[in-house]
Amino acid sequence: MRIADAHADVLYQLRNASSTYAEASFLQAGYQDSLKAGVSLQVFALFAHPQLSPGEQLRQVLEDIGRYQRTMINTGYVQPIFYREDLFSSVQPVYSGILSLEGAACLYDSPEILQALFSLGVRGVGLTWNGANSLADGCREERNAGLTRAGKQIVSMMEELQMWIDIAHLADAGVFDVFSITNGIVMASHANLRKIHEHPRNLTDDTVREIVRRDGWLGLTFEASFVAKSEAGLEDFMRHVDHALSLGCERHLGFGSDFDGTSHALQGLATVSDYPKLAERLDKEYGRELAEKILYGNFLDFLSRQLPSRKTEFASIH
Ligand SMILES: [Zn+2]
Repeated sequence: MRIADAHADVLYQLRNASSTYAEASFLQAGYQDSLKAGVSLQVFALFAHPQLSPGEQLRQVLEDIGRYQRTMINTGYVQPIFYREDLFSSVQPVYSGILSLEGAACLYDSPEILQALFSLGVRGVGLTWNGANSLADGCREERNAGLTRAGKQIVSMMEELQMWIDIAHLADAGVFDVFSITNGIVMASHANLRKIHEHPRNLTDDTVREIVRRDGWLGLTFEASFVAKSEAGLEDFMRHVDHALSLGCERHLGFGSDFDGTSHALQGLATVSDYPKLAERLDKEYGRELAEKILYGNFLDFLSRQLPSRKTEFASIH
């Protein structure tokens, strides 16, 4: 079965590596293993540590984009997706990639820098990582404030550009603000459910229902500390899948593994090579049709709703 994954930190891991993406054997979501496991669409997160200055974060993000272009796209290993037309124009079999930004301090509050990153292929943004920045508070910030004025401006520019709004790391007050100031699609690329496991990185039932109501998308994630208290395994993870489906996520559910970004691997779901086991479990539990939707189809549908069209892009230029 084909698999789409909405969040992996491969680019972060490759930053100081001596081997290239195609050769690297230390990755949880390595290239060869991804192909073998059936992954055919991967979102590559751009992440720079928030303790760095915004300038240093911007430098790292631009370097990662350059490395992605030079060693993954230009070499033909990854076929880039920029517009919704690209989703259906690929020659099979294919391994597609999309860039997203995780933590947006590097924007310097500037819609123009956001526009520049869009032009380089970035298609989704999470305003924060776990702490606060000039745009909003992250989910680990005790203050739990919402979006700043600059954060709201960035979100409205994202809507204009049709970049996806990723609430995975946002504080509850920020999630509320996003829902208040936008009418459109909202997604969470890698988060789990608070009803199943109480954790600030997990979403409330109300948030999930609102994502569904807006025709958005939720990517459940394999970081063990977001799944259960201790020694979490595949069965614990399945409780999140089950609960998401009970909240109406049949057409809005998928996965954002957080491979190469997790510190606590989930037993049985520790690397991309474990995806076929999850696929088998989903097939057994929910049947082939729903399993295929959760593994791939729902994310593809989300992208066809969310991504800008090449036609409108050209129309706006001329
Ligand atoms: Zn993350």
